[in-house]
Amino acid sequence: MGKEKVLITGGAGFLGSHLCDRFIKEGYHVVAMDNLLTGDIENIAHLMGHPDFEFQHHDVSKYVHVSGKVKYILHFASPASPIDYLKMPIQTMKVGSLGTLNCLGLAKDKGARMLIASTSEVYGDPLVHPQTEDYWGNVNPVGPRGVYDEAKRFQEALTMAYHTYHGLETRIVRIFNTFGPRMRLDDGRVLPAFISQALRGEDLTAFGDGSQTRSFTYVDDLVEGIYRLLLSDYAHPVNIGNPDEITINEFGEEIIRLTGSKSKIKYFDLPKDDPKQRKPDITLAKKVLGWEPKYTRSKGLEPTLEYFKKKVLG
Ligand code: UDP
Repeated sequence: MGKEKVLITGGAGFLGSHLCDRFIKEGYHVVAMDNLLTGDIENIAHLMGHPDFEFQHHDVSKYVHVSGKVKYILHFASPASPIDYLKMPIQTMKVGSLGTLNCLGLAKDKGARMLIASTSEVYGDPLVHPQTEDYWGNVNPVGPRGVYDEAKRFQEALTMAYHTYHGLETRIVRIFNTFGPRMRLDDGRVLPAFISQALRGEDLTAFGDGSQTRSFTYVDDLVEGIYRLLLSDYAHPVNIGNPDEITINEFGEEIIRLTGSKSKIKYFDLPKDDPKQRKPDITLAKKVLGWEPKYTRSKGLEPTLEYFKKKVLG
């Protein structure tokens, strides 16, 4: 009997490619779909030629076809860093709306279970701290980040509609800042920016006064949380993230120390609507998935630094 099929959109991206690895390891046949707008074929090069792996170069915002039975669909395609979705606002909105609609239609047709990649951005610049799943958020729909935040909020609403109206099996993960090997060096996010600057001996570019906070999750922990959520019977949104909160200033100092760099931190304007604080409340994930992060930030930074050293220093 053939293996059960999993479709992973954004399969050549940072998170998508790690999910491809996990599902191959779990004994599935993986179809990775990506239009390579922000994804990189190098992230899945090691899977090419594997008998249980196929790559479809396709934009999920256009009609999606996958042959045969499909067990699971994981919709991870989207520009996901602030500079990417500022550069590609329409594509970001299309993949979150039309892309989600196409995946949901496919899931309905195939009787597949569908998991969507939502985000802590649905909380916007949060007025509740730490963020619980029942907080509705503080998002500026017409601000620069609105294209991503509102696409993801629409994505959640559409997914719940398919769940309640069509009885489709759906799962919603709200992903907090995640890091690890295969992040794009130039995606503009704070971790690749700081690490590459520190390795090159350049000043670190902190935005604002650096007092804003984030909570960073190592990618293997995230993948484990997503896998557990997919197999669970919980259809409402679940936060997956590491609650260890740090200011951007402290994070810069940590990167300088870990890389042994002589770089200093320099300050630049804070981008509009940049959230001042972010930290997941993971009570729900603990309760319904028995999940909590296993990697401390420093443990996760070890393989991440190795990866970036190869990229930056060759
Ligand atoms: N940031 C920074 N310097 C950079 C890139 C980002 O100080 O070179 C800040 C950014 O303003 C934000 C935080 O780091 O407050 C995290 O930004 P990132 O783009 O990684 O993701 P976000 O959590 O904002 O989606």
